[in-house]
Amino acid sequence: MIQVFMPLNFLGFVYREMKGSMANIEKMFKLLAVKPAIQDSEDAQALQAPAGVIEFHQVAFRYQAERPILAQISFRVQAKQKVAIVGGSGAGKSTLFKLLLRFYDVEAGAITIDGQDLRDVTQTSLRRAIGVVPQDTVLFNTSLLENVRYGDVTASDDAVLEAIRLAHLDDFIAQLPEGVHTEVGERGLKLSGGEKQRVAIARAILKRPPIMVFDEATSSLDSRSERSILQALAEIAQEQTTLVIAHRLSTVVDADQILVLDQGQIVEQGDHHTLLALGGRYAELWALQQRQQRSVDPVEMEPSDQ
Ligand code: ATP
Repeated sequence: MIQVFMPLNFLGFVYREMKGSMANIEKMFKLLAVKPAIQDSEDAQALQAPAGVIEFHQVAFRYQAERPILAQISFRVQAKQKVAIVGGSGAGKSTLFKLLLRFYDVEAGAITIDGQDLRDVTQTSLRRAIGVVPQDTVLFNTSLLENVRYGDVTASDDAVLEAIRLAHLDDFIAQLPEGVHTEVGERGLKLSGGEKQRVAIARAILKRPPIMVFDEATSSLDSRSERSILQALAEIAQEQTTLVIAHRLSTVVDADQILVLDQGQIVEQGDHHTLLALGGRYAELWALQQRQQRSVDPVEMEPSDQ
């Protein structure tokens, strides 16, 4: 998943979250005398992404010469749409995200945001335009309030509190002895996977980028935590173009579009009802997950899910 980024890229990513600026990453690369794998072209321009329309045009990609990973990937995500990517392990879901963040360049085809090819824009502006909610969120050894403020270090307390509310963290915080001032992270309170993802969502809400990518945790969440995350995600999806790597049925049902990836190709594409009616790969995945869900959580099943 997305946490397996190249170590330097990942380090850069954390760094960006901390400082909110790519200048620091560039400085870090200089200090380490390392050339980043991807460099801006000489005439790169700042990305203008007011709408956040994403297009993949016949994209092909491989990490190693002998092994194609993605082939003929074409899709368009309209402004403020929510698109879910589903598929088995190794299908190429995280690779799609990495290409969108331009950790690698495509081998063939092109990726555009609001019509601009990613290879023609600066990486600083690209990564500023995309908010990432990873599976495993890094928390710093400071208060919850400051942890959320990393989304935008210039944000006022009121703005941070509003993001916390929209990310459905307020109920959880109300139970903490020192509320938003409670220390979290390695040396403070340990948060569950679901709570950490909501901190990442709150950061993203504060940052308000036109595009959000969300890597849903594969680890199991209790149904209350899952519902809170879905509600928080719904808040974001209204305002931003949202791309989700989905592992749960509940996340995909309301997506505008679902891309079903199999061995690096999009094998089906459509909304939940269209894909169910198709009776193909998605319907198979759906039936399988329904059976698994029923065996772990029989009471939580909704009649409409059957
Ligand atoms: P999962 O749900 O298991 O995380 P995924 O659909 O996200 O899988 P990817 O992580 O995109 O799949 O991986 C697609 C393929 O690319 C896999 O076969 C994987 O082994 C391979 N792969 C991923 N990252 C690299 C890398 N850095 N170098 C070489 N191969 C890689």
